[in-house]
Amino acid sequence: MARHLKSATPKTFNDEAQRTVAERVSAIISDIRRRGDAAVRDYSDKFDGWTPESFRLTPAEIDDIVATLPAQVIEDIAFVQAQVRGFAEAQRASMQDIEVETLPGVRLGHRHVPIDAVGAYIPGGRYPLTASAHMTIVTAKAAGVQRVVACTPPIRGEIPAATVAAMHMAGADEIHILGGVQAVAAMALGTETMTPVNLIAGPGNAYVAEAKRELFGEVGIDLFAGPTEILVVADETADAFTTAVDLLSQAEHGPDSPAVLVTTSEALGSEVIRLVEEILPGMSTKDFAEPAWRDHGQVVVVDDIEELWQVADSYASEHVQVFTAEPRDALEKMSNYGALFLGEETCVSYGDKVIGTNHVLPTLGAARYTGGLWVGKYLKTVTYQQISDTASSAELGRVCGRAARVELFEGHARSGDVRAWRHGGESFPW
Ligand code: NAD
Repeated sequence: MARHLKSATPKTFNDEAQRTVAERVSAIISDIRRRGDAAVRDYSDKFDGWTPESFRLTPAEIDDIVATLPAQVIEDIAFVQAQVRGFAEAQRASMQDIEVETLPGVRLGHRHVPIDAVGAYIPGGRYPLTASAHMTIVTAKAAGVQRVVACTPPIRGEIPAATVAAMHMAGADEIHILGGVQAVAAMALGTETMTPVNLIAGPGNAYVAEAKRELFGEVGIDLFAGPTEILVVADETADAFTTAVDLLSQAEHGPDSPAVLVTTSEALGSEVIRLVEEILPGMSTKDFAEPAWRDHGQVVVVDDIEELWQVADSYASEHVQVFTAEPRDALEKMSNYGALFLGEETCVSYGDKVIGTNHVLPTLGAARYTGGLWVGKYLKTVTYQQISDTASSAELGRVCGRAARVELFEGHARSGDVRAWRHGGESFPW
């Protein structure tokens, strides 16, 4: 029976905080829908104090910004983008178009076609999330997207130079210094100066994630990728210090980021709580990590390894680190997660920053129905059909006539009748 050494109220889609965010976001979207660029400018001023003549950077401005960066930063961006691109291209290669013959002369197929235009949101209110540019833009280009519009907010009034370099090196076709709901709505709805896109991808805070959710339908979205979450699944073999450090690595994202340990070992759970409290005060990011741990940190002790997998799976957490004697068991035992990190040699920070799997992942339980961002999210799987055998057409025509009349669709039925009559020697019933 699971018991809490440290408990917290779980965050859900329908709690009060989430409802307040939804109300605010919907008011901003309505205003941008009505007033276009003027409203975008007002909200950029209000939330980010940012009102340049144009939000879009020119090629000369991009070159100047990139030139300010040390060579090591550029090299590291190129290294990480190569990892992300390598994995994304392997995933793309695994997606084959198909064409099959289901009846004589009846050919059915599907093709994976890239979306024409995509908006990539790269977050940056608190930290310059340079790595999100690799994840959203490199992957879109690996999928074959023609036009990628990239938006990121200024950070405390400054353009985030490394993020701009990453957007540019990833292949963004337009780079805008614009954040939050105003960026998402401008890309989704279009304004006097922004041509709308067909899909918006990328993570963000609760406002950004809610904006994507509310605009879904008018525009496609990749997934609900809000404030980050970490779950560590551990048995008595886990190292307490590594566990504590890794929990805090995600708590520092923001005060609304849950960090949860589920373990079979009460001794490990108690030691991790002690270590987290010891490490936290010395972190430069404690202003975010402290409230995140206080309000959303949990340590849960379970009776045995089977219960460990069940409880862990029930969280449907964005990130799951597995610190057990046999970490690969998680591949069989778990199905609800955004990404698994197997064993103590890897961690969420590798996924976030360097290893090459995509870090844009489902939050708030969305892992129950979707995985994270990947090339497939930028592709439409579209079908086609063709019949080259008239006898098959006549057979399908007869079935179509009967099936459509069961549904009282006389027009559909007649399309079948025409073919049955033309090729099958039937006489017209009407
Ligand atoms: P952000 O870019 O998502 O948000 C900054 C914007 O929020 C600002 O530009 C501002 O316009 C807007 N904003 C701030 N306060 C507002 C208010 N009161 N009303 C309306 N709009 C407001 O950057 P951030 O805030 O640093 O958040 C980044 C988030 O991305 C974190 O929560 C992090 O956990 C998350 N993240 C998630 C994933 C994932 O895959 N799920 C990956 C990386 C990061």
